[in-house]
Amino acid sequence: MVEQKEQLYEGKAKKVYATSDPDLLIVDYKDDATAFNGLKKGQIVGKGVINNRMTNYLMQKLEAEGIETHYVEELSDRRTLVKNVKIVPLEVIMRNVVAGSLSKRTGLAEGEKPSMPVLELYYKSDELGDPMINEDHALAFGWATRDELDVISATARKVNAILTEFFAGVGVDLIDFKIEFGRYKGRVILADEISPDTCRFWDSKTKEKLDKDRFRRDMGGVEGAYQEMMRRIGLK
Ligand code: UDP
Repeated sequence: MVEQKEQLYEGKAKKVYATSDPDLLIVDYKDDATAFNGLKKGQIVGKGVINNRMTNYLMQKLEAEGIETHYVEELSDRRTLVKNVKIVPLEVIMRNVVAGSLSKRTGLAEGEKPSMPVLELYYKSDELGDPMINEDHALAFGWATRDELDVISATARKVNAILTEFFAGVGVDLIDFKIEFGRYKGRVILADEISPDTCRFWDSKTKEKLDKDRFRRDMGGVEGAYQEMMRRIGLK
């Protein structure tokens, strides 16, 4: 049995604990919600449970398709045992449909479909507000190696293909999402979470938003949207 030890870190949406095994950590998902780099704060009741369980479900699905993830074991509604990775300081965003900051940056309307999925890199830095960067920046400043970037980009595209097909099957368009990677025993593996906090989900028919944009944009029905995504996936 792995024992939970001291808290190592408290982030915006999760707490991280050491365990009796140095190779493993426990993540504990909170209901706290933030947006616009922490400027907007609130709570989404039940979100921690939903994000924990949905992330674990999706990570297991990706593992079954040959993608190594940090997932080890769900310990409770909010707590999961994960591999102790060293996070690569990049946020990787995959986009299938124009939304959010891409719409602002390009003037393209939300809902427009690019001719291919678009991969973007952002430098993980709260002080700087996660600026967008490119592969040259990541290489030149030592944030990742060429080999790591190749694994990251191939994996991100494969994750996108698997998740897009899965969500289409439950009547949801996967508009875009953010993933993070970690270094573990010489490999780069998928880490962090995959949830309505980190993905844009639109109902395929009505295009209703079923994700954190309802919180960001004060649209109401936030908890209901998260619960609806659990229902679609077949999780209670
Ligand atoms: N995203 C995220 N964390 C961030 C920034 C973005 O999880 O710090 C996700 C977001 O939920 C969306 C996708 O990445 O699914 C693209 O976000 P975008 O760049 O459009 O930024 P936003 O409009 O959310 O600020």
